[in-house]
Amino acid sequence: MQQILEAIQSGASGDDLAHLPIPESYRAAFVKKDETDMWEGVPSADKDPRKSLHVAEVATPELAPDEAYVAVMASAINFNTVWTSIFEPLPTFGFLSRLGKESRWGARHDLPYHVVGSDAAGVVVKVGSAVRNWKPGDRVTVHCNSVDDQDPSAHDDSMLGANQRIWGFETNFGGLADLTVVKANQLMPKPAHLSWEEAACNALCNSTSYRMIVSKHAGAMKQGDAVLIWGATGGIGGYAVQYVLNGGGTPVGVVSSPERAELLREMGCEHVIDRKANGYKFWSDEHTQDESEWRRLGKDVRSLIGRDPDIVFEHPGRSTFGASVFVAARGGKIVTCAATSGYMIEYDNRHLWMKLKSIVSSHFANYQEAWNANRLVAEGKIQPLLSRVHPLTEVGEAALAVHHNETEGKVGVLCLAPSEGLGIDDPAFREQVGEDKITRFRRLG
Ligand code: NAP
Repeated sequence: MQQILEAIQSGASGDDLAHLPIPESYRAAFVKKDETDMWEGVPSADKDPRKSLHVAEVATPELAPDEAYVAVMASAINFNTVWTSIFEPLPTFGFLSRLGKESRWGARHDLPYHVVGSDAAGVVVKVGSAVRNWKPGDRVTVHCNSVDDQDPSAHDDSMLGANQRIWGFETNFGGLADLTVVKANQLMPKPAHLSWEEAACNALCNSTSYRMIVSKHAGAMKQGDAVLIWGATGGIGGYAVQYVLNGGGTPVGVVSSPERAELLREMGCEHVIDRKANGYKFWSDEHTQDESEWRRLGKDVRSLIGRDPDIVFEHPGRSTFGASVFVAARGGKIVTCAATSGYMIEYDNRHLWMKLKSIVSSHFANYQEAWNANRLVAEGKIQPLLSRVHPLTEVGEAALAVHHNETEGKVGVLCLAPSEGLGIDDPAFREQVGEDKITRFRRLG
């Protein structure tokens, strides 16, 4: 990979890159199948990704005709890498073995190790014979929706594809590595004004929030809608705040510290709730929710904006879901994509049906949604949320920090990029967008 990196750094042409040999192995972060029971009896919070995530050389897989090899300059930690590394709710090797049974190309993924990571920015170094729109030398970001384009069920909304998968979570050969293998329809142009690590941190969370807030497939927010956003300085929450503001809505951001509250205000989110300072106790014990606490949250939202939220951006899951259903406005939507605190959800259905609310599920984004979300980053209308950066060798530390809710926005990971700040192709546009805006989250990192 050193030869490829040197070629990229010296500005080699696409043709020159295309002629470089693809190495037989590359450095990658992975979990091992024979370690999936290493956490038996250990509480979730004590499961330490530094023990389960390894960084070493792995064999380079063969390239399918519809795929590209991308030299990964930078990647990012997503919560799915936390799930994979703590083997919860299930080890991800089951996904790989199912994929392995699908086809000759699927069989490549069924290995005793799982290379993780669902974000990347880098340079295309080789494309398969069926790839039309991309070529070696293209500077790209990668979105994580891996779909079979010969599956009819994927042709209305590809997220409905029967064998839709998240790359680097439900497939092998993910982005936390020096090289990755992706389908050509995962590629998007790298925003030219961003560094590698700033460009790498967006696709997964940004596209998810785009679908949840903007897309007709989920939130379909209108101008003037009020949106309650849990974890509003987190990965998906921080993009959600930007979409609500850009779309003429009113965000009410929930966070858990004064520093995060301040960061939200700096982003232009005027209405902020510090859930820790307010001490909400939605569950009085493990089995019982306290409706008076839901009401207290509802009152707090009304005291800020004078009404109930039209949309609740929901992902904490069990700890907040009852409250989210309760506080949504009559006719409002609870848009959910996750359940960080627990997936067995409980809410009072009377509040849902009597007030004609709906629960809308959302999961990542189709190619067009991801492309639109990426274009907004490239146009400087959505900012990256990079708060800190680790080298690939510290992937375990980086995942642990996300696991323990110690980070804001996104945690970047340098793969081939030897240092931060490289890869900016359009410094003039960067200046126009504003360094302060682009690096706002670095202040807390
Ligand atoms: P993140 O960066 O860790 O942010 C999550 C935020 O949620 C935290 O900053 C925290 O904010 C808040 N939070 C955590 N536990 C909470 C609780 N019990 N009650 C209220 N708020 C809580 O994670 P992320 O990247 O935003 O991802 C969030 C979840 O969405 C994860 O479960 C992830 O797997 C999932 N996800 C799903 C998709 C999809 O496509 N389906 C895509 C991306 C992410 P405060 O402590 O400041 O309140």
